[in-house]
Amino acid sequence: MTQSFDIVVIGGGPGGYVAALRAAQLGAKAAVIERDRVGGTCLVRGCIPTKALLQSAELYTLAKAGAQFGVVSPQVGLDWSAALDRKAGVVDKLVKGVEGLLKAGGVSLIRGTARLAGSGTVEVSGERIQAKDIVIATGSAVARIPLKGAELAIDSDQILELKEIPGRLAVIGGGVVGMEFAAMFAALGTKVTVIEMLPQVLPMVDADLVAVYTKHLASLGGAVHTNAKVEEVVKRGGGLQVRFSSGGEGGSIEAEQVLLAVGRVPYTQGLDAEAAGVKLERGRVVVDEHLHTTAEGIWAIGDVIGGIMLAHVASYEGVCAVENITGHSDRIPDYHAAPNCIYTDPEIAHVGLGEKEAKEKGLEVKVGRFPFAASARALTLGQSEGFVKVVADASSGRLLGAHIIGPRATDLIAEATLAVQNGLTLEQIDLTIHAHPTLPESLMEAALAAQGRAIHITNRRVATATPVPVAAVPAAAPAASGEVNGQTAKAQNREQQMTAPVKSKAPPLPAAITPKALELTKQNRDFLLRLHRQMQLIRRFEERAQEQYTKAKIGGYCHLNIGEEATVVGGIVPLKPNDYIFTSYREHGHAIARGIDPKAVMAELFGKETGTSHGRGGSMHMFDADLRFMGGYGIVGGHLPLAVGGGWAIKYKKQKDVVFCMFGDGATNIGAFHESLNMSKIFKLPVVWFCVNNRYGMGTPVEDASAVADIYKKACAYDMESIQVDGMNLREVMLKTTEIVEKTRSDSEPRFIEALCYRFKGHSVVDPDKYRSAEDKEKFRKADPIVAFEHELEKSGLADEEYFKKVRQEIDAEVQEIIRFADESPDPKPEDLYKYVYAGEWENQPELRGDPL
Ligand code: FAD
Repeated sequence: MTQSFDIVVIGGGPGGYVAALRAAQLGAKAAVIERDRVGGTCLVRGCIPTKALLQSAELYTLAKAGAQFGVVSPQVGLDWSAALDRKAGVVDKLVKGVEGLLKAGGVSLIRGTARLAGSGTVEVSGERIQAKDIVIATGSAVARIPLKGAELAIDSDQILELKEIPGRLAVIGGGVVGMEFAAMFAALGTKVTVIEMLPQVLPMVDADLVAVYTKHLASLGGAVHTNAKVEEVVKRGGGLQVRFSSGGEGGSIEAEQVLLAVGRVPYTQGLDAEAAGVKLERGRVVVDEHLHTTAEGIWAIGDVIGGIMLAHVASYEGVCAVENITGHSDRIPDYHAAPNCIYTDPEIAHVGLGEKEAKEKGLEVKVGRFPFAASARALTLGQSEGFVKVVADASSGRLLGAHIIGPRATDLIAEATLAVQNGLTLEQIDLTIHAHPTLPESLMEAALAAQGRAIHITNRRVATATPVPVAAVPAAAPAASGEVNGQTAKAQNREQQMTAPVKSKAPPLPAAITPKALELTKQNRDFLLRLHRQMQLIRRFEERAQEQYTKAKIGGYCHLNIGEEATVVGGIVPLKPNDYIFTSYREHGHAIARGIDPKAVMAELFGKETGTSHGRGGSMHMFDADLRFMGGYGIVGGHLPLAVGGGWAIKYKKQKDVVFCMFGDGATNIGAFHESLNMSKIFKLPVVWFCVNNRYGMGTPVEDASAVADIYKKACAYDMESIQVDGMNLREVMLKTTEIVEKTRSDSEPRFIEALCYRFKGHSVVDPDKYRSAEDKEKFRKADPIVAFEHELEKSGLADEEYFKKVRQEIDAEVQEIIRFADESPDPKPEDLYKYVYAGEWENQPELRGDPL
């Protein structure tokens, strides 16, 4: 008799069996057809057997290090066949478990190979089965590439059955499967070499995490060749040889075994899918957003539809599909919080957006990191390599992604996944009590670090994050490492008080800076007023900085932006988050325009620990790697060659970012200026040279100092597009800068902008300023960029004097608070002299320091 069902699922992997069980829960008469063992790739040849063997490798590593823990064994050895037996036992247990679940759930398990045999019909071993709806869940198979000698290599199925541990293993392909086997065999003593065609192994993982993994692999004697193309595998001297080319040169690796791990492809063989009206595209089954195929009543899920080929995603899709079939709900899969776990050593896990990815999407982000070296639990485990990194939306604090490398990263990602899925904020994470001592505390600390409030590492600087009410944070929260004494608890309270609100956010950008977006209309009012406010803040900040200098709160020299606000704001605001700013020492306003917290800027001027460079930069070196603000180099024009380097890096990485290099007219008289412009042109580097020509290089008028007083003409000599703009006119600077920057972004040709402005103060606060005539000063005072902009706003009815007065008062109070913050911030500790070397990352990245594991 022909069997008939409501839902027949073809394939009993994690997609198929979960779909069938859920279908049965929803009252459907369901069946699963499986030609092999239930559990599919995941249970039989994938997730489970690999993790069982990786556990043997981990235990072996730990056992060898046992003496450190006081566990002494005369000889630690590895019995590979016992490890294989254990693996098989775990797989058997789980396969039986799934069979039991299907039985208990009322799902029929039909053994055999299924074929689609017309509308609502599936054929298995000659027998026809009727189904109202069919779900294809046939998974994937190992991908093969047309490689000479590929038959000599083994695949991920075969490597699981090796009878002996190879002495040398070459892994072709640096994806997840390849890297897990590389990690496993390296831990077991195999000499592993990985050959990857792309510039990075694990290309889906942020580069800073991959660096930790490859370093660990190297410590076990493993090697990684990237940008390397395998040419062939040949037999040689009783073993195998992999020949590859890299950067025009040839290389070879000898190995007993070669693993070909170049990915997986959707599997539909023998299904007769296309005959049944199911469209395939490069082997994968095409589905709509509800997971329905192009054939009536046929659905598809899991690896066979491509996309994210992971077991949990297959299960999730299985549930979505049958809920749609049964009408239980209308599910469109949402993958934005699909976690990805990589069981290397150390483990890697990530969810949501990466730092670079978020910035590429035009999102302004803040990033927090916490190293496991500072986690009490990681230290007790003896596994303190790696870190947790969180990426959050800068204005809302919403967690966009989390990236973890370190102990049990694959478990830790669960909390972050929940947060990303549900749009939780950093604050919601840090206000959740985390048990101590646990690894998840590291996620909480990373969330705190992103807000400049980490407790168990030194904060890089106080971020612009929404302030947390002091009462909401325990005054002296028990320390994860237990070492906070009364003194530091007091300091922490002070830090909390120091996160008082400062309203200076970078103006939210319109979708594009066009003449229309800058028109003096009501629609653009918010944006225009934010620009005005930012100029006003920079002005007041500088005025008060000058005052602080005279009180000896600020040491060294102090150069002010007063009079240059339109040039600075108009030049910097059009840049994208991923663009780099290389600038010199008149940079307080530049930093503020870029969105750096003015409190951190003032604290830096005061030489305090909470400054942008933790007080190491002095009064002239602002630096913020997260905001790509490279103001750390101060000697006149010395940063121009560095901007060329930045341009090279962008070009080399084939990115679409732009280097925006700001300098004064004085810098255009030195050799480095000419060399840099020349190089940028010859090598077509994406650099926009931006000369803030305030008409005086030190105390010399530009006409006296330079044979060519129109600076932009100097750039013409290098055959680059070069323009002069009125640097006192905010809207003109902004519009012209946008045009030039976007052109450079699209064709990677350097360009030059000269913004003609005027500084109302001398070259620095100690400059008596006698070389400028009173008439000259008076003339430019009349062209004050802020006053000019206020007139425009007033004339178009967007603001009035009352409004400007209010803003000035607000800003007065704000700058007062900024000064209080800087004043009360702690000085750097003498014993921390070596902290924050290397862009402030030194302290938080033990992997950079090369600390012993
Ligand atoms: P599959 O698990 O491939 O199941 C498909 C089933 O369909 C198979 O059992 C097959 O026999 C059956 N079938 C095919 N055609 C027919 C037919 N015509 N008739 C009847 N039956 C048929 N993912 C993770 O999430 N985490 C991991 O740690 C992980 N590790 C992995 C390690 C390795 C080495 C590999 C290879 C994969 C790993 N994966 C991992 C990926 C994971 O295994 C797959 O994403 C997952 O198994 C896909 O599930 P699925 O149900 O779509 O397909």
